[in-house]
Amino acid sequence: MSTSEQQARHKKRMQKKKTLVDAGIKRADREQGLLLVLTGNGKGKSSSAFGMVARALGHGMTVAVAQFIKGRDDTGEDKFFRQHSAVQWHRLGEGFTWETQNLEGDKETARRGWGVVKKMLQDPMLDLVVLDELTYTLKYGWLDIDRVVKDLGSRPPMQHVIITGRAAPHRLIQIADTVTELQDTKHAYRAGVRAQLGIDL
Ligand code: ATP
Ligand code: MG
Repeated sequence: MSTSEQQARHKKRMQKKKTLVDAGIKRADREQGLLLVLTGNGKGKSSSAFGMVARALGHGMTVAVAQFIKGRDDTGEDKFFRQHSAVQWHRLGEGFTWETQNLEGDKETARRGWGVVKKMLQDPMLDLVVLDELTYTLKYGWLDIDRVVKDLGSRPPMQHVIITGRAAPHRLIQIADTVTELQDTKHAYRAGVRAQLGIDL
């Protein structure tokens, strides 16, 4: 095939693609608060959520972050976003269940935490709410999924919510608008590399 024939073919293909892309953009003309779920065993769930926090802050939006499980408060995101006046930062968890080893205590902590989240989900001034590692509270039955679904459903129509954590329950995936399952293809930890600043914490 000559160069000009190749060029003509390429142009035709790109025109076709542009028609499809333009039609897609025209179709997506609604605005609404979204529910996003980032789940799966691969790395990148919480860090993706914090990437969206940075995006939202860039646009002058107000953000609340609730951390359900992690007890540690020395992560980079903790240090960085806590300084930001447009971010409410709540640590609602007590550590992993295998560390606390106290089922009733874990349930009580999660329920108290959900009380804080419920207020966020009733606050139309909050543009984005991140519920980091919420899925574990559902997986272990500390929080009732019906209650969580109901409160998420009655939030302000333009409020975005991001939920992270492994093993997101089916009900959550059903009601979410955008769901990404991160796949664990490889992780440096298994090759003996400890958690690295700026990458893992
Ligand atoms: P990140 O916060 O890095 O986006 P994550 O939210 O997807 O990770 P979590 O299950 O919350 O994953 O675990 C957080 C910590 O565990 C991070 O230090 C992360 O690098 C590490 N981690 C995540 N996935 C894996 C994995 N598959 N194997 C080993 N360590 C992991
Ligand atoms: Mg995480």
